[in-house]
Amino acid sequence: KTDINAILKQLAIKENNEAFSTGSIWGGINNSKNINSFSPVDGKTISSAKMADDADYDALIVKAQQAFLNWRTVPSPKRGEIVRQFGDALRENKEALGTLVSYEMGKSLQEGFGEVQEMIDICDFAVGLSRQLYGLTMHSERPNHRMYEQWHPLGIVGIISAFNFPVAVWAWNTALALVCGNVCIWKPSEKTPLTAIACQHIIAKVFKANDIEEGVCNLIIGDREIGELMTADTRVALISATGSTRMGKAVGAAVGARLGKSLLELGGNNAIIISEHADLDMSLIGAVFGAVGTAGQRCTSTRRLIIHESVYDTFASKLVKAYGQLRIGDPLDQNNHVGPLIDTDAVASYLNSIEKCKAEGGKFIVEGGVLEGGAYSSGCYVKPCIAEVKNDFKIVQHETFAPILYLIKYKTLDEAIALQNGVPQGLSSAIMTLNLREAEQFLSYQGSDCGIANVNIGTSGAEIGGAFGGEKETGGGRESGSDAWRAYMRRQTNTINYANTLPLAQGIKFDL
Ligand code: NAD
Repeated sequence: KTDINAILKQLAIKENNEAFSTGSIWGGINNSKNINSFSPVDGKTISSAKMADDADYDALIVKAQQAFLNWRTVPSPKRGEIVRQFGDALRENKEALGTLVSYEMGKSLQEGFGEVQEMIDICDFAVGLSRQLYGLTMHSERPNHRMYEQWHPLGIVGIISAFNFPVAVWAWNTALALVCGNVCIWKPSEKTPLTAIACQHIIAKVFKANDIEEGVCNLIIGDREIGELMTADTRVALISATGSTRMGKAVGAAVGARLGKSLLELGGNNAIIISEHADLDMSLIGAVFGAVGTAGQRCTSTRRLIIHESVYDTFASKLVKAYGQLRIGDPLDQNNHVGPLIDTDAVASYLNSIEKCKAEGGKFIVEGGVLEGGAYSSGCYVKPCIAEVKNDFKIVQHETFAPILYLIKYKTLDEAIALQNGVPQGLSSAIMTLNLREAEQFLSYQGSDCGIANVNIGTSGAEIGGAFGGEKETGGGRESGSDAWRAYMRRQTNTINYANTLPLAQGIKFDL
């Protein structure tokens, strides 16, 4: 049985409840408003954290600005060395932090550990990156001139994160932002403050051991209002925000109004096309894990299956059988497949979506419902369900953050791709096929319009080596691997004249 108190103690939360043990963990000491962290696993309040107020926020910004002046002078490979140590500290705390993620957020223990592994992986990636922040050199059109570009840090990076990846999203942003020479202010989801405090303790220890001043990595506990202070603040050079499209529209508008930089990672409405050439057994694993993993609360969760008419009935009955075998319950028990939703508001939204789907003509082949009593007393456990729908139902066009899977039938691949693309969101997509022509068409410019397009892999999850993010209402941002680091830096083009004349570009003559 998991001893949550021992874990809280290891992560330095329990003894010092609000965890103000270092100055870079910020909370409104004069503010009586608390955030309770409530576990959807058993409905218990785990602990509470104090909310920051405007004055705390201002003090924190000043501290971060000050820290930036020094941090930017630390050579990038040396910053990489700090991130390497951070990765090692995460390795040491993987079990405890992963378990707390599972308990506070409700995802399975394996997924909690997986989330911490992603943090470790991005640290490794960032260490290598710290020696590879390359700029290009160009040939100047003028004799005895040299042109090149270099990348400089931005300053303060504001990170606003969602509840469903309470720690990994922060690490994706932080590891890159740090090697790029930025300082960070993190506002985690108000639903998962304890995992955030735990992370701050882990990283603060590394900074302390290296004699680095406070203010490089900062945590601010608060709700939407603190997020709004950050987005409106010209002192925050980049806002990297992960969450709903509703939030992203507000953040994008606020940052845009001051012509600041934003990196938006918003909702998805991800589909798998199951072709008549698919390996159906493999497709089943991809579809079921994609739809019910993390109880359907991943931005990459599979929401729609677009199935060829010739395999539709066979595949639908395989799904029904598989759903019949799902074990729903305590995510800390590794025998269970599906844990709870984050809170009872999420349960209400799940029920509401089911009603709307029925009202639009959706036919449920696996019924949903809320589980009650005994192990389900938190009121957050729901049954994953499946409905046959039309792609243009209003509810199908909308991301419901819960395990509701929609089935849609198709005849031709062109039609399937049009259905796949026919939603406002553009995050993750997949095709299950053993036919090369189909796979290539799906990946071509005539194919998926999403940021992520997979073949014979489901939509859910991603590796840190690739750039992560999506198009349309998903926000267009890219985080993590590939060249996503560029979003955390500013590009400067430099031209140096080592001639003894001053020739102008484009051959313009200007003689005095
Ligand atoms: P949410 O939008 O309710 O909240 C996300 C964060 O934004 C929270 O920290 C919240 O306090 C803050 N926030 C809300 N309104 C704000 C505003 N106006 N200004 C500034 N900050 C504001 O999202 P959630 O329920 O925590 O998370 C679920 C959503 O996140 C889903 O839509 C999911 O698809 C999306 N998500 C996307 C990705 C991705 O990488 N694309 C990853 C994880 C989650």
